[in-house]
Amino acid sequence: MPRINEIFWSAQGEGLRSGVPSVFVRLAGCTLGCPYCDTRRAWERGRERTVEDVVAAVAGLLR
Ligand code: SF4
Repeated sequence: MPRINEIFWSAQGEGLRSGVPSVFVRLAGCTLGCPYCDTRRAWERGRERTVEDVVAAVAGLLR
């Protein structure tokens, strides 16, 4: 099961799709430790969720 830090709706903040409404699924457990990381809370915090649960959460945000 994937370990998920958060699932949320927002506007894409960068790249060619900047400004496009999007649903983000932030995984937990990154081990790279980039010094500029703005989501350090996701290095540790998260809980295991089934893929079906993640899909349902995303679908709920798209309604
Ligand atoms: S920026 Fe943060 S989440 Fe992204 S790869 Fe680096 S340490 Fe991991």
